[in-house]
Amino acid sequence: MSECIFCAIAAGTIPCTKVYENNHVLAFMDIGPISDGHTLVIPKPHYERLHECPPELLAETAKAIGLLADPVKRAVGADGYNVLCNTGAAAGQVVGHVHFHIIPRKSGDGVFNRWPAYKYPEGKAQQIAEKIKQNLKL
Ligand code: 5GP
Ligand code: ZN
Repeated sequence: MSECIFCAIAAGTIPCTKVYENNHVLAFMDIGPISDGHTLVIPKPHYERLHECPPELLAETAKAIGLLADPVKRAVGADGYNVLCNTGAAAGQVVGHVHFHIIPRKSGDGVFNRWPAYKYPEGKAQQIAEKIKQNLKL
């Protein structure tokens, strides 16, 4: 995956501002933050999408997120944080190497001003839930 920018960062051939590293994962500052302290956590091996990542590696990544989230938040005096994994272009994934954003949040910062919640019509949530359960059995 020589074309992948995050593989190059994991290999050390492209520099980053590193905050944490172990054998499995790397965490570094996002070069285009949407809030101060915006940090990325990646598994070092290349997988494009979250669901392609082996469970053990995903677990290592989740462990690192759990380790880092509060220190990131406290570093910038934030009140909370979002953890986000954009998957697929439709969801805003630009870099095709699994990564999780830790985005520190301050009350009233307006970072995610649009959260277009709505209500399901009667029965629709249950129908979709059934399809999800069928897919799980495949
Ligand atoms: P995505 O939209 O794919 O979820 O987010 C990719 C993120 O990677 C963006 O927030 C972007 O600022 C960040 N990014 C892209 N290229 C680089 C880079 O070369 N170095 C660092 N540190 N972050 C990058
Ligand atoms: Zn990669």
